[in-house]
Amino acid sequence: MKLITPSSLVLGLCMLLLSACQKESKWQGQKPIQVVPTDTKPIQKQVKGTYDLGSGIYASNDFDGARLNGMILSGDTLITALITAENTPINPSPWYAFKLWSEEERVVQLKLTYQDGAFHRYYPKLSRDGLDWENLDEKDYVEGAEKMDIANRQLPKYITMRLSIGPDTLWISAQELITSAHVKTWTTALCELPYVSSMEIGKSLEGRPIDLLRIGEASDEKMIFVLSRQHPPEVTGYLAMESFVEAIASDNPVAQAFRKEYTTYVVPLANPDGVDNGHWRHSVAGIDLNRDWANVNQPEVACIQSFMEEKIDSSGGRFYFGVDFHSTWQDIYYTIDPTLSGNMPGIVPSMIDSMASVLGLDPNIRPNGMDVPSINSSRYFFEKFGAEALTYEIGDNTPRDLLRQKGETSALELMEIMMANE
Ligand SMILES: [Zn+2]
Repeated sequence: MKLITPSSLVLGLCMLLLSACQKESKWQGQKPIQVVPTDTKPIQKQVKGTYDLGSGIYASNDFDGARLNGMILSGDTLITALITAENTPINPSPWYAFKLWSEEERVVQLKLTYQDGAFHRYYPKLSRDGLDWENLDEKDYVEGAEKMDIANRQLPKYITMRLSIGPDTLWISAQELITSAHVKTWTTALCELPYVSSMEIGKSLEGRPIDLLRIGEASDEKMIFVLSRQHPPEVTGYLAMESFVEAIASDNPVAQAFRKEYTTYVVPLANPDGVDNGHWRHSVAGIDLNRDWANVNQPEVACIQSFMEEKIDSSGGRFYFGVDFHSTWQDIYYTIDPTLSGNMPGIVPSMIDSMASVLGLDPNIRPNGMDVPSINSSRYFFEKFGAEALTYEIGDNTPRDLLRQKGETSALELMEIMMANE
């Protein structure tokens, strides 16, 4: 039973007043972030392999980024998949990805079900090669009648999709499949530019490299930091990060001038184990890495912090800006309280306002007050280094051309603002 105490009453009243204020302003506070222990916990690994469902139908989760925990065929045409999380409790990002094929061409019903208490979130994407993806046709998508109320949305406990399958493999995934191998392809291509290089700054718990890109032709006197993919399913945030970084590495005159003044450091894939294991949110330590920035129990967070802190010590330079890309229900900017000043006050609100005005958007900005505990990356960037910081959230369903425009325009506006700020 929950006791109502005088202090919880006062807190409740404050929350009511706060929510009344929030309705009048786009400057809304972030919901309290819970402080959680980040000591390593056991996770449940998937049994990887090929499922022989009978009637000449097969499925597989035997590839990086896959998630499929069980599958059966009922009758000749109903395939039911079970999707479960790596461990619990966990934020609701139910990731799935698997392959399906059949000896004969046929039409089947595929039902996606989740562990108890979970629900369907990501609209299915289909691919024939694991590289090019498109949304399942709406006419082939049916939501189950049972709904759960999540973040003011009615989300189904299960969905069914109508699929045509045959000998050619069909890939089905929650979002575009972007694993550590795909990220490596992207970083390798960028490294062909003379002013981009890559180094390994540490290893994940399972021994995957944590790679860092360096972009620029300047000394390390002035630096910015870009981070992505602490949370495996957050592919839309990752795609915006790619466009942001590509703009900094581009031949745009602003970018060329910026690279002579500022060095950009990028960790594009902070949780490679979680991504390659098809996790809903955590690392293989069963931990939300974006809650470990104060405790620093996990190697993925520790190596990024060591790199940044040693860089400051060895160069005597400063980080002026830090951004961490994520995904959620909609596009949101979690910024630092605008009354607090870091190394270059005002550049984050200016960047968001300029980007929004160029693209004709009305941005949803939510600054964190000082009451938000320093357990995530953007608070660490600000408190440790004075870097003007934000968590850049992209909606799960934001159109891909728009999120790329947002990433690119944000970088171009930021570089111009920072160059004018000197
Ligand atoms: Zn996230």
